[in-house]
Amino acid sequence: MINTRINQLIKYGKDFLYLGMDDDYYAVNQILYLLKLNKFTKEEITDTVDFFEVMEAVLGFASKQGIIDGASITERDAFESKIVDCLMPRPSELDRMFKKEYKTGPLTATTFFHNLSKASNYIKTKRIEKDIHYLYEGKYAPLDITINMSKPEKDPKDIKKQSLFTDKYPMCPLCMENMGVYQSTQLAPRSNHRVISITLNHETDAWGFQYSPYAYFNEHVIILRKEHSPMYVNERTLAELVDFINKFPHYTIGSNAGLPIVGGSILGHHHFQGGRYDFPIEKARVLQKYKKRKVEYEILDWPLSVIRVSSDNENALLDATSDLLCAWYEYENKDLNIIRRTDEDHNTITPILKLNGAKYQFYIILRNNYSTKEKPYGLFHPREEYFHIKKENIGLIEVMGMAILPGRLINELDLIESCLIEGKNPEDYPELVKHLPWIESLKQRNIPAEDLKQTLKNEVGDIFEKVLEDCDVFKYGTKEDLYRFLEKLI
Ligand SMILES: [Zn+2]
Repeated sequence: MINTRINQLIKYGKDFLYLGMDDDYYAVNQILYLLKLNKFTKEEITDTVDFFEVMEAVLGFASKQGIIDGASITERDAFESKIVDCLMPRPSELDRMFKKEYKTGPLTATTFFHNLSKASNYIKTKRIEKDIHYLYEGKYAPLDITINMSKPEKDPKDIKKQSLFTDKYPMCPLCMENMGVYQSTQLAPRSNHRVISITLNHETDAWGFQYSPYAYFNEHVIILRKEHSPMYVNERTLAELVDFINKFPHYTIGSNAGLPIVGGSILGHHHFQGGRYDFPIEKARVLQKYKKRKVEYEILDWPLSVIRVSSDNENALLDATSDLLCAWYEYENKDLNIIRRTDEDHNTITPILKLNGAKYQFYIILRNNYSTKEKPYGLFHPREEYFHIKKENIGLIEVMGMAILPGRLINELDLIESCLIEGKNPEDYPELVKHLPWIESLKQRNIPAEDLKQTLKNEVGDIFEKVLEDCDVFKYGTKEDLYRFLEKLI
């Protein structure tokens, strides 16, 4: 009975979504409107409510009544999000609650908000469970390989185009205007979306704090400027990251490079990403170590060129990393194809910060997006023969050693496996065309059927490792060139 379902929703709202004592009927009446009903009887609900079971029934009812097209996942998601919104605090109310929790401590506040983002199904926990996650024992450190079901793949060239659009509302998925959006063809449903206001680098409440609905790793957080303005990576960015860590010391936080091809997927809106997770890069071996006053510099044994800058002194750290950044922006070595500037800048960095005890540790990954006619995706981008596995930009999560691979791969890998075992012709499957040379090379190796699944997983891990190596700015030289760059600076 739909009446019982509504009673269950109210109970769920009270138990997990901070629905206020006196807000019962207010929430009920909004839900009645959405379900095109005009009657409600209060029932006593004593059992714990299973959100997914109740929501399934409510969406089933809405579909039967012709309110939504039950076969469309977009319509279901948008309607679910709107129902949940009826049970949740408004953004400003939640913001006050977060600030109150923060008085107990940053961990208490983020745990409160993270739990709420899961309970509201803004973080799609059930869908995320279907993602594939395994470790690949590579040359450098065990890499995290994930195949993500919930986010579509983007072409780096489209990202460049997308950043030029200016007449959309909301302008991009990171804008504050997304809070409460029902849905649009471009944007995901955001009725239940909440962003907390935070202060960074003396800019009071100028920043938003939210979780990622796709949650590539534990407590995947996104920090955004409230105004839609382009990404920048300069001294100011470094200070913003340090201030974030001072306020939320239990998180890792980083910024994508601000340039196309080597940056993230949204260049038009300044933001950071982070989480409560230990990334593979932290396990990298140290190749060279230098010390200058209060700052330690380490060159890591990693597929990309990484310098870890550590200090327990905030100002010394910021001075050291700012100098490093300026030195890299001015660095050029034509023998190694490192071109710092044509009619635009090409050198940039991906900075990532984490506390290690009382010590700040900045991972500065050197990047360059110079491209030529022959290599339109850039010289330091995954080579095209690996696009069948990974075509997207290598952003900050990936440089830390976590692969975010497209969901299509799950079916494609299964299909490749059955082609190799059952002798089916891969050319009969259009989705396998891009994998044909790879399938051919696998065929030649006569891998026993029982080993095939593991071999495919390892192959994907190996390709990811190679793709990271492709992005190394010193790949046309040696590690000595990287040492020399740093030694000259310190
Ligand atoms: Zn925006």
